[in-house]
Amino acid sequence: MPSTPQGQPETPQPAPKPNPKPAAKPAVKEQVIQFHSSKRIHPKRAIGKFANLRVLMIVATQLFFYGMPWIMWHGRQAVLFNIEERHFYLFSMVLEPADMLYLAGLMIVSAFGLFWWTTIAGRLWCGYSCPQTVYTEIMLWIDHLVEGDRNKRLKLDKEPWHFHKIRIKALKYLIIFIVAAWTGITFAGWFVPIRQFVPAIFAGTAGSVALGTAAFYGFVTWLFGHILREKVCLHMCPYARFQSAMFDHDTLVISYDAERGEPRGARKKTASKEDTQLGDCINCTMCVQVCPTGIDIRDGLQYQCIGCAACIDACDEIMDKMGYPRGLIRYTTEAVLKHEYTDADVKKRLLRPKVVGYGVVLLVAVIGLCVGLATRATVQIDVIKDRGVMVRENKEGLLENSYNLSISNASEQTQIIQASVSGLDDIRLTGLPENGISIKGGDIITIPVQVATQPEYAEKGSHPIQFTFKYRVAGQPENEARVLQEKSIFIGE
Ligand code: SF4
Ligand code: SF4
Repeated sequence: MPSTPQGQPETPQPAPKPNPKPAAKPAVKEQVIQFHSSKRIHPKRAIGKFANLRVLMIVATQLFFYGMPWIMWHGRQAVLFNIEERHFYLFSMVLEPADMLYLAGLMIVSAFGLFWWTTIAGRLWCGYSCPQTVYTEIMLWIDHLVEGDRNKRLKLDKEPWHFHKIRIKALKYLIIFIVAAWTGITFAGWFVPIRQFVPAIFAGTAGSVALGTAAFYGFVTWLFGHILREKVCLHMCPYARFQSAMFDHDTLVISYDAERGEPRGARKKTASKEDTQLGDCINCTMCVQVCPTGIDIRDGLQYQCIGCAACIDACDEIMDKMGYPRGLIRYTTEAVLKHEYTDADVKKRLLRPKVVGYGVVLLVAVIGLCVGLATRATVQIDVIKDRGVMVRENKEGLLENSYNLSISNASEQTQIIQASVSGLDDIRLTGLPENGISIKGGDIITIPVQVATQPEYAEKGSHPIQFTFKYRVAGQPENEARVLQEKSIFIGE
């Protein structure tokens, strides 16, 4: 596959057909701002099925982001990553730092999900659900709402400062400030209980760490979503650089059908193609005007393309107006453009080795994660030998060692724990309540215990012993208890 200077795959451009008439110059060329321009890009609003899909995705992802922290579950926030208390609540599940393995598993699943999806359909993640795309789009909605469509915004930017311009810009920045601030507060609300955090902000009693987190994320939202916008995708996002490694010539990408579109040129709507000898591209530049990164998709696949499909909507609208078939710009594959098969056969190419390979790894990772979460111990116990207390003889004349049991209950229910010890003759465990240890949901406790035996059964040196813990939810029968075992050592004198 040929590559652009940036190392990206390039959509092959067939040699243009002989053109008896030179292509007409774009009527609005002066308004077309290319990505390398230092000018701010004001994309035109695209209307069509992909724009609707993008709106749907933005609404869905933002309902989740802004709404989830407010959902309650059994009297507490349903999803809360409480770093201060080192507890991560996910509905009924309580995860602790020891469960970071599952977080790593989740990241592996997400990475392979992204690889798999990218191999099939290119940059769908970037175009529809990446937070950078989402917040850029939200900021563009605000631009559009307050300042009007592209042409009005371009005109306003060129105008000198006057009262009307100041009023419009002030209103826009006020709305952006409110959106960015609420986004920052919501982000912090994933880490501190939001129902206490929000009133505390207005009462002036919110913690400085939570306030700092909200302020920082609000600032990042404003900076990335409003100021930097496409520059984040073009210059800062690593995914744009390595995604080509996942592409193959059967990957769905947004492409301009140069064979059909060239030679491009303006013509009257009534002009027949035979008369003009032109391709279907009327060189209206609408595909460039709607592009949030300011590129021209007709130059071939470029790493600057975030796959938002705005150019498809724009071009389809033009094709409809001209009475030409839709799809001059469309989701297609490099192989289709090379006539290896047709668009109708794209689905048949889904089961190819790369897709199957990523799919299998993804499936294994998902199953592993689900099984791990379903069978994970809800009670974790560490037996820590108390090195501050020397081996000693107790009042019964037994040799005694001291230990600390560090117990954490990663469930929501109270757990009852029975403990025993083995490994030496006549070995005894003392220091525990008779009815077992009771630990409330989400609690972490430390209990000192003693292990003792007859001096003749523990010669000088270290002896391996084993603690056995049986735990069950309070109220459950004993035969439903789960078992945990921990190894330790007993020091003889
Ligand atoms: S929108 Fe379609 S017709 Fe207009 S310039 Fe782009 S490709 Fe050509
Ligand atoms: S070229 Fe088309 S799909 Fe790519 S970023 Fe621009 S408008 Fe979106």
